[in-house]
Amino acid sequence: NDRQGNYTVTLIEGDGIGPEISQSVKDIFAAAKTPIEWESVDVTPQLKDGRTVIPDKAIDSVKKNYVALKGPLATPIGKGHVSLNLTLRRTFNLFANVRPCKSIAGYKTPYDNVDTVLIRENTEGEYSGIEHVVVDGVVQSIKLITKQASERVLRFAFQYAEDVGRKKVRAVHKATIMKMSDGLFLKTARDVSKDFAKVDFDAELLDNTCLKIVTDPTPYNDKVLVMPNLYGDILSDMCAGLIGGLGLTPSGNIGDECSIFEAVHGSAPDIAGKGLANPTALLLSSIMMLQHMGLNDHADRIQKAIFDTLAEGKQLTGDLGGKAKTHEYAQAIMSRL
Ligand code: NAD
Repeated sequence: NDRQGNYTVTLIEGDGIGPEISQSVKDIFAAAKTPIEWESVDVTPQLKDGRTVIPDKAIDSVKKNYVALKGPLATPIGKGHVSLNLTLRRTFNLFANVRPCKSIAGYKTPYDNVDTVLIRENTEGEYSGIEHVVVDGVVQSIKLITKQASERVLRFAFQYAEDVGRKKVRAVHKATIMKMSDGLFLKTARDVSKDFAKVDFDAELLDNTCLKIVTDPTPYNDKVLVMPNLYGDILSDMCAGLIGGLGLTPSGNIGDECSIFEAVHGSAPDIAGKGLANPTALLLSSIMMLQHMGLNDHADRIQKAIFDTLAEGKQLTGDLGGKAKTHEYAQAIMSRL
């Protein structure tokens, strides 16, 4: 909290459509007189002692402000620097990734009342980045699961369920096949559940979850799903599909000290620089950020303007079947504030 009663928040605009959708958030926050001052930082990777690192200035900014909003960062496939997204999550130990998906009035999908919350372990599992060539033509990739990281994200999931009033935590796993790694995650879940008397617990196999959630998502509306890293990555995109796609889904990367909020989607190179991007996902991420900071009144006000604009359906971006440019949609939200 600094001068004029404002909170300083680190802003990483990101690549591709990042600067366009960040501009919408900045404009809408200014129009809503939200007490947030943005500190923009550059996270272009640097090489230090042969390792890819994030510039110190960016790290210091997030450490100082505790909270950041981040646009998508492009990751080269199969070569070049390690994923910056992974580096950020590891640097700040952002162990839990919270991904809610809620149906939007005004955008018709096969289901009208999707309201899922998925929590993804964010630091290890299949994304540990431990890969090597055993012999030519054979590679090995290590899925690392630790009791410590599992317990941390599971405790967070139970606490989250208790806080937001969801009845049950469901662990999603493949312990039938990955008996030791997912087995440890599942056993830890059972142990942690004993500390949360008010929240029920059960477990479900990942393939079964996929089948059931696309058949009828309603039974998932009173639950919090928690799972290892890769499963959460994939299942959350599937949930996004249920409500209208990646243009709509926010997320929060939560750590003990710092938290970084970002859209689930990537840098969308196919539409970058054309003013076609839907800023809703980043906007809803910024709403999660305001709620995390306890600025609920500000969050509610902007969220209502977003949902009303979407429900009215006059100024929608192309991904939602409309013709509006990014800034026209943002303008429609601002006119409601
Ligand atoms: P993507 O999410 O960028 O795009 C997938 C599709 O969804 C594209 O057709 C795109 O146009 C569309 N889309 C995404 N966001 C949209 C929005 N806000 N409005 C309208 N349409 C939208 O996925 P990708 O193409 O697989 O990845 C592109 C780059 O983004 C890659 O370098 C990838 O590594 C990176 N990425 C970053 C993050 C992150 O920063 N958290 C997440 C995922 C992917």
